[in-house]
Amino acid sequence: MQMKKLLLAVLSFIVFLFPLSAQEQKKQSGKEPLFGKAMASYPIVSNELSGACFYLVGGHGGPDPGAIGTYNGHKLHEDEYAYDIVLRLGRELLMRGAKVHFIIQDKKDGIRNGSVLKNSKRETCMGKEIPLDQVARLKQRSLKIDELYRKDKSVYKRAVFVHIDSRSQGKQTDVYFYHAPGSKQGKRLADRMKNTLATKYKKHQPGRGFKGTVSERNLYVLRNTQPAGVYLELGNIRNSRDQQRLVLENNRQALAKWLAEGIVADYKVGKK
Ligand SMILES: [Zn+2]
Repeated sequence: MQMKKLLLAVLSFIVFLFPLSAQEQKKQSGKEPLFGKAMASYPIVSNELSGACFYLVGGHGGPDPGAIGTYNGHKLHEDEYAYDIVLRLGRELLMRGAKVHFIIQDKKDGIRNGSVLKNSKRETCMGKEIPLDQVARLKQRSLKIDELYRKDKSVYKRAVFVHIDSRSQGKQTDVYFYHAPGSKQGKRLADRMKNTLATKYKKHQPGRGFKGTVSERNLYVLRNTQPAGVYLELGNIRNSRDQQRLVLENNRQALAKWLAEGIVADYKVGKK
């Protein structure tokens, strides 16, 4: 009799425990294999971005490495760094309850630590081979964004294109934000992202000064996609001081987090 009672107590305790934890699990975390094994699971820490949907695009990819810099004898390719930051940004957005589409993908490279990110040509446009021809390449990703945009029911949908600039070696640059000519929503988002970065740098690197700018630019992907968007240039890949922003994994992470916070600030005013 007592044994039966004990067994019942244990059983009901297990039943009590497990459905709850499964439910909790569902609400508080998610999984994205693109982030790589170690980072695939992410906690959902807030619902600040619930109802928002993003199209994130790492610049270049596949046969096109984008700008190339040299660091300690290694070649740094723009597409690898842009992609790493896109993944980190996407994870930050997902953690805040957003829906995220990664337009450029690499099945093998997840979120990577370390300063020299190995170069590859594996990137695809959501599984489709990326053409080398520039117009065909930009058209492919723009069409993909629009195809998804038509299906997404969210009221707030934004595209973010991440690039790293290439200027002469001696020229240090800051983070530049571009929006399509005349795009009020694009400008508002760019302003919020820029202001967030300025505030963060002031706090974490006082004396650095922030010279990032927001401006209009007649770029194919901004002009030819439905959602309002922002196109970022994160620095000069050939300048050794700008390279610090890219090669230090903590800097890539901080940048992604701050950009996500800028997006949250925009969503707060833009979701109505
Ligand atoms: Zn680029």
